[in-house]
Amino acid sequence: MRSILKKMRIILLGPPGVGKGTLADSLSKKLNATKISTGDIFRDAAQQGTELGKKAKEFMGKGLLVPDEIVIGIVKERLKKEDCKKGFILDGFPRTMAQAEALDKAAKIDIVLNLKSRDNIIVERVSSRRVCTKCQAGYNIISLKSKKEGICDKCHGKLIQREDDKPETVKKRLETYKKETKPLIKYYEEKKLLRNLNAEQLIEKVFQEAIKASS
Ligand code: AMP
Repeated sequence: MRSILKKMRIILLGPPGVGKGTLADSLSKKLNATKISTGDIFRDAAQQGTELGKKAKEFMGKGLLVPDEIVIGIVKERLKKEDCKKGFILDGFPRTMAQAEALDKAAKIDIVLNLKSRDNIIVERVSSRRVCTKCQAGYNIISLKSKKEGICDKCHGKLIQREDDKPETVKKRLETYKKETKPLIKYYEEKKLLRNLNAEQLIEKVFQEAIKASS
């Protein structure tokens, strides 16, 4: 049995809105591992108006994936940084077979946690999701409220609904997930790295299951 203090390199797999970001936050604290969220990287870049941000925004706004060659380069560089040596949690990467194959060459992975939930529950959850405009912390107006409505507990930034969390874009993102990302479940199953988690439970319960699966 692995100790939870051991360096862990974890992939979080699952459809958009299933709770990968929230779980990545809790796991990164508990396991002292660095969270890497490609979605956050693109949103930060978009907010700063960089070339990368402008390019990413074109795809994100349509519920499409940012092209592999851009994403792979960014993650490979990020994984080389010092803070990844203590372990990492990948939230939202890989999302295509090409990304998974590139990751195989760049890093060893200990476990892939596959968060499962039905589509209707996802659409419901995403529509009540809010994010901090300053620090990207995630909230939910039903299940994970901030202390003060519309204000981030951590940095007092303003909470908003993400542009791509609007119903039409969510449907498209789910389609993209099924076409591009779902095949990765079998890929990691065959590598014997996959652990399924029921993501329809309360966040705390999902977290406990995740810790158990990672130990
Ligand atoms: P997320 O916050 O993980 O749902 O990501 C938001 C959006 O960023 C996605 O809908 C994609 O447009 C883009 N994105 C994030 N991660 C990736 C990835 N690994 N590959 C391609 N596009 C990505």
